[in-house]
Amino acid sequence: MRLSERAKAIKPSPTLAMDAKAKALKAAGEDIVNFGVGEPDFDTPDNIKEAAIKAIRSGFTKYTPVGGIDELKTAIVEKFKKDNNLHYEKDEVIVSCGAKHSLYNIAEALFGAGDEVIIPSPYWVTYPDQVILNDAVPVIAATDEKDSFKLRPELLKEKLSGKTKALILNSPSNPTGLAYDRKDLEMIAEMAVRHDFYIISDEIYEKLTYDGFRHISIASLGEEVKQRTIVVNGLSKSHAMTGWRLGFAAGPKDVIKAMTNIQSQSTSNPTSITQKAAVEALTGPQDFIPKMVSEFDRRRKYMVERLNKIKGVSCITPVGAFYAFPNVSSCYGRKLNGKPVNSSLDLSAYLLEQAKAALVPGMAFGDDRYIRLSYATSMENIKKGLDRIEEALSKLQ
Ligand SMILES: *Cc1c(COP(=O)(O)O)cnc(C)c1O
Repeated sequence: MRLSERAKAIKPSPTLAMDAKAKALKAAGEDIVNFGVGEPDFDTPDNIKEAAIKAIRSGFTKYTPVGGIDELKTAIVEKFKKDNNLHYEKDEVIVSCGAKHSLYNIAEALFGAGDEVIIPSPYWVTYPDQVILNDAVPVIAATDEKDSFKLRPELLKEKLSGKTKALILNSPSNPTGLAYDRKDLEMIAEMAVRHDFYIISDEIYEKLTYDGFRHISIASLGEEVKQRTIVVNGLSKSHAMTGWRLGFAAGPKDVIKAMTNIQSQSTSNPTSITQKAAVEALTGPQDFIPKMVSEFDRRRKYMVERLNKIKGVSCITPVGAFYAFPNVSSCYGRKLNGKPVNSSLDLSAYLLEQAKAALVPGMAFGDDRYIRLSYATSMENIKKGLDRIEEALSKLQ
């Protein structure tokens, strides 16, 4: 097959190899604890399901406007006003088939050959590949655990060039659980204005924060930064709606218009039924969210405490999302039966075999010293999995 250069440039996700292995073991009857999951283990709330059923029954099953129905755009405009103190018009908003799809539309609308896009690492696995798919160059800014994995001004300055088109910011972050406070964001906003680059702000985890942390959208810091920011959000994580495929973005009118044109030639509108469910998710009762967050919080505390008690493991406390991101690099070089563990891939493979625990190697997120464990799984699973991990790591010599 003579594939395009573009298709050849995309690497298969290293997480998939692990996932395939975990699934094969599970299919073979093994009792695998899955810490690899990237979605809430809660069911979509009933009121949202009912809205979708009603949409089907009433025949709301046809094409809609490409960028979303008016009713949903109104609900999104209200959401930005209420949650983020952001004032958008409806033509500054687009609804897509997931936040990932909004992000992809942005990449197509903004990036091209020769453009550089700064991505702080550890990063969400999809960002660099979406940049590459649009012929631009990902410029990785490796952050430090000592800075709580935050992008510091000196590092950002170092990565800027005449070709810098955009910065992709993700707060709260997958995989680290870091979240930027107002001060951090002001510094980045100021640089974006001074050096005139776009900020793509992925805020999909905004509702999942702990210890009283309050999410701030960088776009809300002033008109100048707002003009350079595209805010991305969605319902997958906040309303346990990963399978429904609905996300949205807001930003300057011309970018949103270009994204809508691109969407009109690729997917067309997001599913009509899902859009009706999304209206209910955004405007109906929100009491589901704090309940889910308090359960995540309980698991978060337990997981981080347990991880830090394991010899060779240290884990900072995440303030958002639903992942722990422990540093396991002091296990590297240790062996079992003469076989050394030298990387996050080795360690993940080792834990899958020895502990029957599936997790994601840090290398997938651009930092080999770490592994990512999701706590979007039951407390019972978490306890069982951590007991096994602790035991397996104690065998390494
Ligand atoms: C899950 C996730 C998304 C994608 O969400 P969808 O709306 O399901 O496409 C985007 N960004 C990050 C960081 C995520 O973890």
